[in-house]
Amino acid sequence: MKRSLIALTALLASSVTLAATPWQKVPNPIPGAPQSIGAFSNGCIVGAQALPLASDHYQVMRTDQRRYFGHPELVKFIQRFSAQVNNLDMGTVLVGDMGMAAGGRFATGHASHQTGLDVDIFLQLPKTRWTSAQLLRPQALDLVSANGKSVVASRWSPQLYNMIKLAALDDEVTRIFVNPAIKQQLCLDAGTNRDWLNKVRPWFAHRAHMHVRLRCPADSLECVEQAPPPPGDGCGEELQSWFKPAKPGSQSNEKKTPPPPPPSCQALLDEHVL
Ligand SMILES: [Zn+2]
Repeated sequence: MKRSLIALTALLASSVTLAATPWQKVPNPIPGAPQSIGAFSNGCIVGAQALPLASDHYQVMRTDQRRYFGHPELVKFIQRFSAQVNNLDMGTVLVGDMGMAAGGRFATGHASHQTGLDVDIFLQLPKTRWTSAQLLRPQALDLVSANGKSVVASRWSPQLYNMIKLAALDDEVTRIFVNPAIKQQLCLDAGTNRDWLNKVRPWFAHRAHMHVRLRCPADSLECVEQAPPPPGDGCGEELQSWFKPAKPGSQSNEKKTPPPPPPSCQALLDEHVL
């Protein structure tokens, strides 16, 4: 009993240290004209909007985390995309993390999602809406085989293919991150029209969700756009390189100290967080 108490205390203490980013202390969007500021992995947002939690077309997971804020363009994308999915009778879209009220760096979970232009969407389309208990503790469906080389055939479906393609065809979307095994399956399934595959990028994890990134809104003058992906469908050598053993040190960038926020974001922190 005592030992488990000590363990619990240690666990609580460590989660407290992990939780230390000032952005988590901003409970509500910073008022003002919507502006995404900085880069996807080091930025913030003014005038973020909360995604309406009630919808016939999508459901929002883990609302207790309050990560359902984004640029109005992101809110519009989720509404547009989920309406399309629903019109095609594909099921309900399950929305995961967007960003925090003022964007910024998370203590855990994401490097990006900082400028209100990123959203995680589950790669499953339930025909029956989830209960609030299910939404609070979502059951991720791992689509990738244990060796990481392919999707699990029994879990893959044409609907998932269509869902990812639909998101990639949206003009505001610049990138979609999925596991390399999922990208490979899309490459196999795609016919002769393959242009949309360009936006679908292989990345670590992302075995149960896709991460959708929008372009910088034209009037967000301090938003730093990412260079476009290299031309082509991305199904060749670059994709294959993900299935080779990693070179020593090639993944070592994960523990670097994060850079300071852009000056405009720091100014927001100075003003809104003591
Ligand atoms: Zn993500």
